Amino acid sequence: MGRALIIGAGGVAGVVVNKCCQNSEVFEEICIASRTKSKCDDLKAKLDGGKTKITTAQVDADKVEEVVALIRSYQPDLVMNIALPYQDLTIMDACLECGVNYMDTANYEPEDIDDPEWRAIYEKRCKEEGFSAYFDYSWQWAYKKKFEEAGITALLGSGFDPGVTQAYCAYALKHEFDTIETIDILDCNGGDHGYPFATNFNPEINLREVSAPGSYWENGHWVEVEPMSIKREYNFDQVGQKDMYLLHHEEIESLAKNIPGVKRIRFFMTFGQSYLDHMRCLENVGMLSTTPINYEGKEIVPIQFLKALLPDPATLGPRTVGKTNIGCIFTGKKDGKYKTHYIYNVCDHQECYKEVGSQAISYTTGVPAMIGGMMLLTGKWNKPGVYTVEEFDPDPYMEALNKWGLPWQEEKDPVLVD
Ligand code: NDP
Repeated sequence: MGRALIIGAGGVAGVVVNKCCQNSEVFEEICIASRTKSKCDDLKAKLDGGKTKITTAQVDADKVEEVVALIRSYQPDLVMNIALPYQDLTIMDACLECGVNYMDTANYEPEDIDDPEWRAIYEKRCKEEGFSAYFDYSWQWAYKKKFEEAGITALLGSGFDPGVTQAYCAYALKHEFDTIETIDILDCNGGDHGYPFATNFNPEINLREVSAPGSYWENGHWVEVEPMSIKREYNFDQVGQKDMYLLHHEEIESLAKNIPGVKRIRFFMTFGQSYLDHMRCLENVGMLSTTPINYEGKEIVPIQFLKALLPDPATLGPRTVGKTNIGCIFTGKKDGKYKTHYIYNVCDHQECYKEVGSQAISYTTGVPAMIGGMMLLTGKWNKPGVYTVEEFDPDPYMEALNKWGLPWQEEKDPVLVD
């Protein structure tokens, strides 16, 4: 059916490529392009021989002109950004210049948060909006008119969270509720990789996210709290009782706009004590800093140095056991009556490893990325402009989740989070 250019060759991209090859009717041809071409070639070597035709290329996606040149030579129907959020805008610019549909799995944040021009805009936003995360949708939403005029679609954040969680919200609104009052997104990783400390996806992005202040949306505005200061316990199906902490998360921002009348949206993620102790210690000694320091005549960025020391998330697959359970608990009204509902997915780390050679965090992100790409390539979700997952019809996406490895379950009257 079509040809996709996949940018990035890390943990998540490995799953995306695998799943595209399984879905060769839709992904007839793919080009895997990344900064380090050998990683693209390794992926191709593992998957070559099936129906999907795979090629590889080298690209520095920080440079619009390099992405433009690659798009012009490969002529894809879709560009899938599975690199880092730092590359969102440059790849969107290239797609606009070439008139090609775009998708990604995480919203824009800059690599250099000390850049004065970015900093001034960021500080204004913190004051106006009331949350201080480095990432937000404003940068990509600013492309809406340009994408509309070019007649192309940008699908933002088609991973699990963001991504599937918003499809759950759109599905709940379409089939279960007339109005949704509250949404609690619960992200539980009950997996154990046996290391005292490691991150399940890119360490820099992950540690930036979890060490930031928490925030939630309530009655039309953001409430920001100290990092990890709101803790709850929840008994997750097939995982058990876990401590979870309130975090700021990007889908809250778009859901607050797109779910009419929603009164409160919160996001909780589970963390073990060892992870939290290590993170606090690393933060206290300055290892999470993104500001370069001079060490013996060489400039190093502490968090990038830490990344070099930590296990590569793409290597955690063989050693991670246990399950993830990620979903949304809704309260609201149907036919005038109050009701509650829970939609979630349980994913087993070792099952993922057996199927595609990676742990469940990359799997639960990579499968929805492939599905997002499939929605665009098949034309099911094409509407010119810039959109998040909940702005499309959830039914074909939810159906595809069941088919491609992330079946969802529903529970009526679930235990609520206080
Ligand atoms: P990795 O760090 O494993 O992989 C990132 C890949 O991007 C690497 O191949 C890297 O190349 C490549 N890359 C980085 N910079 C450039 C550049 N300038 N030009 C070209 N390629 C580049 O990250 P993950 O696979 O763990 O994460 C991928 C994305 O998925 C991230 O955006 C992350 O935030 C997102 N994510 C989303 C989730 C969700 O549920 N929505 C959950 C988890 C992750 P190199 O090898 O040279 O470094």
